[in-house]
Amino acid sequence: MTMIGDKLQQVQARIVTACTAVGRDPASVHLLAVSKTFPAEAVREAHAAGQKAFGENYVQEGVAKIEALADLRGQLEWHCIGPLQSNKTRVVAEHFDWVHSIDRLKIAERLAEQRPADLPPLQVCLQVNVDGGANKSGVAVGEALALARAVAALPRLRLRGVMAIPEPAPVFAAQRALFLLAGAVFEQIRAAGIEVDTLSLGMSGDLEAAVAAGSTMVRIGSAIFGQR
Ligand SMILES: *Cc1c(COP(=O)(O)O)cnc(C)c1O
Repeated sequence: MTMIGDKLQQVQARIVTACTAVGRDPASVHLLAVSKTFPAEAVREAHAAGQKAFGENYVQEGVAKIEALADLRGQLEWHCIGPLQSNKTRVVAEHFDWVHSIDRLKIAERLAEQRPADLPPLQVCLQVNVDGGANKSGVAVGEALALARAVAALPRLRLRGVMAIPEPAPVFAAQRALFLLAGAVFEQIRAAGIEVDTLSLGMSGDLEAAVAAGSTMVRIGSAIFGQR
């Protein structure tokens, strides 16, 4: 077993333990391996150990890796999880499978317009700012449902759910409470009749609190690939 393979197993074991603690089925939590700052060869190693979904923050870096791993393209799922500027939407629409960081309609409209017709719809999540910090990315909680309705109506995109990156909290219960705010937005969108299935919550340091709050996709970088 390679070192990355070992780390992947350890993270999978953490997911199982976290699910068991709250009575959830471990199969309901997907693992997104966040490979930002690590080379394409690290992704190749993780893939050889059975990992399929990878997350990248920086568009240029992500596209370079997608191209370096073109031989595996059909077997990998690439997720863009970083802040997205207007001038980067075309390259994202052309290369990635998912975008987690939709925080305004303009970005979603550009992605819809630029998604090539020969590719499946781009799978998207709305990034919600659950802490309320004015300079943090993400749509405000009170504006998320309206954005969800607008995004769900766009062609070439499929709205899958909600993503959030709350600040680290001092104790488990407080961290879980922040994640639950994102869960509430997810439930509100679902209650409005929009079909969503993805709650993208949790990183290396707070995976357990995210799972306790209902996360269906944890985004794990350092616990798999090492410190950046
Ligand atoms: C870097 C990053 C992660 C992974 O963080 P780790 O603490 O390394 O697990 C997850 N989500 C986003 C949006 C990130 O930028």
